[in-house]
Amino acid sequence: MRSLDDLLAEGVSGRRVLVRADLNVPLEKSTGEITDDGRIRASLPTLQALRDAGARVVVAAHLGRPKGAPDPQYSLAPVAVRLGDLLGTDVPLAGDVAGDDARARTGALGDGDVLLLENVRFEAAETSKDDAERGGLADRLAGLADVYVDDAFGAVHRKHASVYDVALRLPHVAGRLVATELDVLTRLTQDPERPYVVVLGGSKVSDKLAVIEALLPKVDRLLVGGGMCFTFLAAQGHGVGRSLLEADQVDTCGRLLAEAGERIVLPVDVVCAPEFSAEVETTTVPVDGIPDDQMGLDVGPRTVESFGRELGGARTVFWNGPMGVFELAPFQAGTRGVAQAVAAVDGLSVVGGGDSAAAVRQLGLDEAAYGHISTGGGASLEYLEGRELPGLAVLTERGEA
Ligand code: ADP
Ligand code: MG
Repeated sequence: MRSLDDLLAEGVSGRRVLVRADLNVPLEKSTGEITDDGRIRASLPTLQALRDAGARVVVAAHLGRPKGAPDPQYSLAPVAVRLGDLLGTDVPLAGDVAGDDARARTGALGDGDVLLLENVRFEAAETSKDDAERGGLADRLAGLADVYVDDAFGAVHRKHASVYDVALRLPHVAGRLVATELDVLTRLTQDPERPYVVVLGGSKVSDKLAVIEALLPKVDRLLVGGGMCFTFLAAQGHGVGRSLLEADQVDTCGRLLAEAGERIVLPVDVVCAPEFSAEVETTTVPVDGIPDDQMGLDVGPRTVESFGRELGGARTVFWNGPMGVFELAPFQAGTRGVAQAVAAVDGLSVVGGGDSAAAVRQLGLDEAAYGHISTGGGASLEYLEGRELPGLAVLTERGEA
């Protein structure tokens, strides 16, 4: 896989460089304001290096899940403004993805200029399962540039036109962010320093069963919190009230518990409430005392202590998924406590997952205390599962920049 430095060494002055970036930031629903610009900031090193080298930079990115057609609610307009602020230059937004306006604006770029294309998911072809359909869009995207740089780590697990097919059509290299993320994931998978502790939370156990299966043989401890712990607790025979429960996964969780023995560590207490609300009265109960009419919405203080003990001795930690509904103040303490314990790890600590990374920033924790905060939840989980990621595979094959 060739690197950005290889491309810079070749010289990019005056060349049109298409950069697939991950600018998929969360927006406040009512105002459309960016609530966390971590991904935009993570894309700066590649973009800045290309500008400094005199490239004419064309950035492609997606935002949210529009339904394959233009939808103002998912326009990259606010992202263009923030990107421009952070780069200290004007970043115009094309009126389309790879149509007439994009072509005209790309042709008018000067050395060091940056253009942002409109949300690639405004074209149904971007995510199509049909190779020819994706290829049509990829042809038009490739026509906008001479070289392709993939820096969208959060999208490398997708076989999408702007991630996969375009790399088949242009000389290509991996951007700085992709290189950094890969370097960290390699350290997690190839002979991690022990004890190696993984913390998983978040909402759906079914999303994460594959990664649990893949990681169990490799880790010393797997700490499970968040909404997904209730399916495990149910497998141990506990009543979980109205907590998140995936009834069809109880048997699988039971088998995993039997296989893992003491390597899987579950919460010992949970914070319960009758509803999702910031004003609601909460009760903290041991896991065998969850009231029938309540939901477990965070792990309790004794769990934070127990997880903290496991993390205290760890030399390598990967954490994905909040321990509770951290978006609401009464259910933040578990995520905060675990985030602090992960930050204090003497060794490599990696946070993966959009919501987990957002939690670190939203709770005011020091980002610099972590070894790495990954921009790609799905992508890092699939990598750790040992799956081949199409967006990476395509960079290691065929045409070189
Ligand atoms: P990430 O994006 O870091 O991979 P996920 O998307 O898997 O994390 O999960 C994040 C979501 O999980 C958050 O919105 C959070 O509110 C939710 N969550 C955490 N704990 C619970 C719980 N006990 N009940 C319901 N939802 C939960
Ligand atoms: Mg998420």
